[in-house]
Amino acid sequence: VLVSPDGRLEAVGPDHGVPRPDGASSIGFPDAVLMPGLVNAHTHLELTGLRGRVPEADFFDWIQHVRRAKEALDEDAFFAAVRAGLQEAWRYGTTCVADTGTSGMAATVLSAFGGRGIAFQEAIGPRPEAARETLHRLRDTVTALRSQASTGVTVGVSPHAPYTVSRELYRRVAEYARAESLPVAAHIAESPAEVAFVAAGTGPFAESWRARNIALDARAASPVALLEEVGLLDGRLLAIHAVHTDQADIERLRRAGCALACCPRSNARHGHGEPPLARYLEAGLRLGLGTDSVASVEDLDLFAEARHARELAALSPEAALELITWRGAAALGLEQEIGTLAPGKWADLCIVRVDRHAAESPGQTPAAVLAAGAAGVVATYVAGRRVYSASPRTAGAVSTGSDTGAT
Ligand SMILES: [Zn+2]
Repeated sequence: VLVSPDGRLEAVGPDHGVPRPDGASSIGFPDAVLMPGLVNAHTHLELTGLRGRVPEADFFDWIQHVRRAKEALDEDAFFAAVRAGLQEAWRYGTTCVADTGTSGMAATVLSAFGGRGIAFQEAIGPRPEAARETLHRLRDTVTALRSQASTGVTVGVSPHAPYTVSRELYRRVAEYARAESLPVAAHIAESPAEVAFVAAGTGPFAESWRARNIALDARAASPVALLEEVGLLDGRLLAIHAVHTDQADIERLRRAGCALACCPRSNARHGHGEPPLARYLEAGLRLGLGTDSVASVEDLDLFAEARHARELAALSPEAALELITWRGAAALGLEQEIGTLAPGKWADLCIVRVDRHAAESPGQTPAAVLAAGAAGVVATYVAGRRVYSASPRTAGAVSTGSDTGAT
């Protein structure tokens, strides 16, 4: 690839076909595959510090643990957590994250360190009478975050989940997002407990609302039907998880043009079930994969997520890699900017060492890359800038001149 000084791809192709302008430096990676940087469609980078620290008896319990653990964190702790999470993502070849959080730190850290992503600011509030005030605070936070966000960073909103958001708050967030053309992400249809809460008004979430004297207004035929009723289903919605959906839900999502961020390893860890990935792909839905937080899954390894998805949906290695590259980009509405190696797109690159034989036989490359996975990543670039290298001097690289400029 030839990268322009502003970080875009100028030319892509076999080495002999890519021009080498005078003064451009060059860097080569023998026995490695040059591929688009990976797109993580769902993370909570602010929870990176909670790795291995949240016990789980059941999902309801786990959520309370996470909430209490977060209450003990201050701004510096959130900043450090997001920064550590971003560095881990880069180390694993990920160049774009769709992150949700309450601290607002993802937008700040991504902007400060030259990362790329969408930072969805969460709105939480089960009491309808508090919805107006919650939206005001959300609006103030989003306005502030947008004013300082760098080129690669988009700010969105995320009404958290049916068991933490009133109908009234859902409606207000939907209206606000439409008026401001903001991307929206929402956890939906994740657990059997959530389905029981929405469809039957039973289970631990319903008990908790009743104990707190909160009216159960979130009832609908299904979690996805609830989002449709509150006006949230449209082309700007990224539906996170979507494990428990029936054919009617899939049709609702398809009709509205929604995208999905599925996190099969997180779902397995919590015992929530398996997202119907093959049915989503058959329905033509935009679909990416996310790792969720390290409080759910121990790492931010998207290759591992792709291998898991491959098993679930009987995908080819190539199709599994598509989920964490261009399909992920399309799920985030960023398909014009990233996701493939094409002139005009950002030079977001992931370089994976594979064995020489696999590197030289195109038919075997996808399987070799998937198998090598995160451990095989030797370098990661965002907009042509190296953000990760396996060694101080980029392991195994052959370079001439400086590799920090146009390459
Ligand atoms: Zn999540």
